Amino acid sequence: MKQRPICPRCSQPASQFETPNGLKSRCEPCGLWSKGNRPLRDAEEHRARFELRRARHNAHFTFDRLWENGDMDREDAYVRLAQELGIDRADCHMSMMDTEMARRVPIAVKAIRLSLGRAFTPSRRSTST
Ligand SMILES: [Zn+2]
Repeated sequence: MKQRPICPRCSQPASQFETPNGLKSRCEPCGLWSKGNRPLRDAEEHRARFELRRARHNAHFTFDRLWENGDMDREDAYVRLAQELGIDRADCHMSMMDTEMARRVPIAVKAIRLSLGRAFTPSRRSTST
């Protein structure tokens, strides 16, 4: 038998039931729940984790475009990202970022892109003036 998660509030084992989306665990008295055998969380914690995952995913998606198409070397891109975020290169991994930091990545990427544009496309079209 799989190990049921223990409710962090009341220390009782969760009840489990099958749903069309798979196994769910739940502590009825406390209102905490999870998918499968994962730790039980309340709605606020689930929402926070969802936001964190989404922010990290979005950060990666935006950042990877910087180097995937060869505009930059991958390591250079990380170095620049760390500079923009004001953190150490060693700490500059999406998987280590909190939601707030991950949300700053797309803005940092935009700044890096702008600097690339100035550095590598001297023949910018001057449309107006
Ligand atoms: Zn409980």
